[in-house]
Amino acid sequence: MKHLRFESEGRTLVGVWDEEAGRIRAEDGRSYRGEEVRWLPPVAPRTVVGCVLNYADHAEELGLERPKEPTLFLKPLSSLSGHLDPIVYPKGAEYMHYEVELAVVIGKRARRLTPKTAMDHVGGYTIANDVTVRDFVTNTFRPPVKAKGFDTFGPLGPWTVDRDDIPDPYDLGLRAYVNGELRQEGHTSRLQFRIPEILTFVTAFMTLEAGDVVLTGTPKGLSHIRPGDEVRLEIDGIGALVNPVMEETP
Ligand code: MG
Repeated sequence: MKHLRFESEGRTLVGVWDEEAGRIRAEDGRSYRGEEVRWLPPVAPRTVVGCVLNYADHAEELGLERPKEPTLFLKPLSSLSGHLDPIVYPKGAEYMHYEVELAVVIGKRARRLTPKTAMDHVGGYTIANDVTVRDFVTNTFRPPVKAKGFDTFGPLGPWTVDRDDIPDPYDLGLRAYVNGELRQEGHTSRLQFRIPEILTFVTAFMTLEAGDVVLTGTPKGLSHIRPGDEVRLEIDGIGALVNPVMEETP
């Protein structure tokens, strides 16, 4: 089942994506076309934790050593946006890029998980674009709050897919297209730290609640995007998250 949130006529609604009809079936009993609503992030998390350098090929691409344990940052909630929402290009930025990432959505409160119990706390999956301005990543010891924290730098969606609908989360292809051109390609079999290891590490010190999101990192294949571009991220078994890039307006 694909669960989503959207806005229509000033109301926030939840619904499911009806694949056959190509429409949203909403809680108000109505059905909507995807184009007539504003898509919201499919969950409203309290915390979004991200992993960096979790694919070996991406660490190599940046000339960095693979971390010995999950290396984390917090994606600010103020950066989150939905499917089709514009990513705003900060004036004067030199290098902004997309990052396609498998996002794990927590299904129930998670604290001090073990690798054995961790997956019971996963509710589902969605696609994240961990948009980054590389200009502000000046060293790897400084959390990339500014680089990854601009408003609109956290597209999430278009929906969440239930955990049981993805029997093997390590058999998913990830792709990023810019204006239809394939720029980034990876596979979740190459994750350095898998979901149970990440969740065990995080929940040893932090409680995660239902709806919280964990970004699992991005594979090799970063490239610059600029105003006017359209970024389309795909993950097998989930779908496609599309966001245009816009000029910053005063
Ligand atoms: Mg990332």
